[in-house]
Amino acid sequence: RSKEKGGNSYHYYYPDMNKRSLHRLNLEIHLRKALERNEFRVFYQPIVDLNNGKIFGMESLVRWHHPEWGIISPGEFIPLAEETGLIVPIGNWVLKQACRQNKEWQSLGHAPLCVSVNISAIQFHQPSFVHYVEQTLLETGLEPRLLCLEITENVAMTNVSYIMDTMNKLRTLGVSISIDDFGTGYSSFSYLKRFRVHTLKIDQSFIRDVTSDEENAAIVTALIAMSRKLKIKSLAEGVETREQLDFLISQGCNEIQGYVFSKPMPAPDFELMIRENKQLYLM
Ligand code: C2E
Ligand code: MG
Ligand code: MG
Ligand code: MG
Repeated sequence: RSKEKGGNSYHYYYPDMNKRSLHRLNLEIHLRKALERNEFRVFYQPIVDLNNGKIFGMESLVRWHHPEWGIISPGEFIPLAEETGLIVPIGNWVLKQACRQNKEWQSLGHAPLCVSVNISAIQFHQPSFVHYVEQTLLETGLEPRLLCLEITENVAMTNVSYIMDTMNKLRTLGVSISIDDFGTGYSSFSYLKRFRVHTLKIDQSFIRDVTSDEENAAIVTALIAMSRKLKIKSLAEGVETREQLDFLISQGCNEIQGYVFSKPMPAPDFELMIRENKQLYLM
């Protein structure tokens, strides 16, 4: 009887599993072709310096523009890209595109901006990674100080000496490093000191209800204070309301990124925004 049952449940679940893996396979096939078909786009979201209310830089965020499926957000394809290793060519493409674009804006006469690029742990651990960054800077002519690499805490989980070595090489190149989504992974405060990162990006999950949840308010306050003492810049992500902004200003947060200023946007729209170069947070 139990055999029969097992057999039934196998047949029962099979079609569903099959559909899901077919979907995955389909996505993977398309993802493999997306680079050569030039289907990726980089969007830019301003990062505002609270010292003067002006745009300090921007984060580059990849989108996949599939001809039939439309715009696909990174949350939907980055995990698969990481599983398949496709994140390396995709991430390298984003890095080059972001550097090229930043250089171009500078050439057009805009004030220098610092462009942030998300780096997957897999990409960071490629033996050729530092060399690729160096080559990209040379090729695009972007000053290293105008590039910031965003890595998450997971990067720092294994092989500390190798990571230290890579971080040191990147620092020698002159690029800066931020820790993204801080507080959501296996945060280790000692890493902040050892890796001497430039910026700590406080994850948006702490910001979302910072004005109503006392515990999150306490965490955010402590992270900003700690950053200041460690001489690391604090950046709050996912800031959506004026109340959240006011709270962060009162705590002395250095930089802000979020819908309160702007959503990520295509390059031409971003250029219109920096052309005005106004004080955003006073609006
Ligand atoms: P992230 O690096 O933490 O990027 C911030 C995410 O928060 C972005 O989502 C951005 O659009 C969103 N965001 C910004 N402001 C607000 C706000 O005020 N409210 C809310 N609710 N969300 C806000 P996006 O563009 O969908 O990217 C999601 C994640 O995908 C990124 O999180 C990053 O981990 C990854 N990602 C994006 N582009 C790349 C890339 O080129 N390479 C790699 N490896 N990962 C990337
Ligand atoms: Mg990021
Ligand atoms: Mg983040
Ligand atoms: Mg994130």
